[in-house]
Amino acid sequence: MSQMYGREDVGLTDEGGLEAMAAANAFGREEIIALLSANTTRARETIRSAAEKMLLKHCGDRVYYRGLIEFSNVCARNCRYCGIRGGNTYVKRYTLSYEEILAQALWCAEQGYGSVVLQSGERCDREFVEFVIDTVRVIKNRTRGERLPDGLGVTLCVGEQSRETYERFFEAGAHRYLLRIETTSPRLFSAWHPPEQSLENRIACLQALQSIGFQVGTGVMIGVPGQSIEDLADDVLFMRDLDVDMVGMGPYIPHKQTPLGEKDPTGDPTYRFESALLMIAVVRLVMKDVNIAATTALQALDPQGREHGLAFGANVIMPQLTPTEKRKDYLLYEGKPCVDETATQCKGCLAARIASVGRVVGYERWGDSVHFARRRK
Ligand code: SAM
Repeated sequence: MSQMYGREDVGLTDEGGLEAMAAANAFGREEIIALLSANTTRARETIRSAAEKMLLKHCGDRVYYRGLIEFSNVCARNCRYCGIRGGNTYVKRYTLSYEEILAQALWCAEQGYGSVVLQSGERCDREFVEFVIDTVRVIKNRTRGERLPDGLGVTLCVGEQSRETYERFFEAGAHRYLLRIETTSPRLFSAWHPPEQSLENRIACLQALQSIGFQVGTGVMIGVPGQSIEDLADDVLFMRDLDVDMVGMGPYIPHKQTPLGEKDPTGDPTYRFESALLMIAVVRLVMKDVNIAATTALQALDPQGREHGLAFGANVIMPQLTPTEKRKDYLLYEGKPCVDETATQCKGCLAARIASVGRVVGYERWGDSVHFARRRK
């Protein structure tokens, strides 16, 4: 058992203690560091089990699907960890047509998936912004019906934009937005991004999105070389204090054609995987009723990665809907799973994975974050 975790005084040694601390909102920086330092099977299982109970109590046993459409890998940014960064000249660039995106969204609605996520590389030019707005409008109009009276839920994940653009996305019908902060450490943020990107702007974007009325999700990469447990604890506190509705975090996975990946092509995958699971559990204990995604990056490190994510407190899964022939060109990191499967194969495989951890799929619903509803009351 880790030294910190074993300390009786912070009440972290048993599940009951953890639940009582969660109920009392008593997790401070020191306690979060202690939890993230858990390094024995027993300690990790205690944390996992408490997080699972917290999830079932506050959010229920449903797992919600967000059909993921990676509609373009064209990117004007140069994040030093990301395989589709603009500077990577080896990437074959694509943008799906309007019709291709709509076809995937309609498939999603037919299958009873309540929501889609439209994700892409980052562009702020007029043509791109108008394309996103038109696409959201069409998806909303074409998916309204008996089963989904308000159409598919649409989450956007297209990066840092102006407030005016976010307002227009919201008016078009998108109601959730994902923008990872990536790290809250100014030192790490500037090591991972070129100077034109700033932590301050990303925070300002998240605040703008919240004030417009979006359900807002953020998250961090876990296990990047140079990132400490203290850094991760600060990330958890940031997400709690910003009062976000959704969290999407995952292990960092190197990509050789990036500056960070070149420096450290392998790292320690086991550490990154285990840290990512602990982060999910800790965020569940600290934030209780937010939606948390079991991200694809978990599965890249372990074939059962997403099931573990669910067991550690996640309640959202993003099945791949990007057309199969394009998936290999949206490689954020190496070893991305499901690049050869069709959306239909992904569907069957996921339902079985969810059942294997004793949970059920929340079909025909948006599956909004309970936290958002509570925050709005
Ligand atoms: N550009 C938009 C943005 O930044 O929000 C959306 C697309 S971006 C490719 C989506 C996410 O991929 C990022 O937030 C980042 O956390 C993740 N990502 C990129 N490279 C990664 C890597 N090497 N390992 C793990 N996750 C990575």
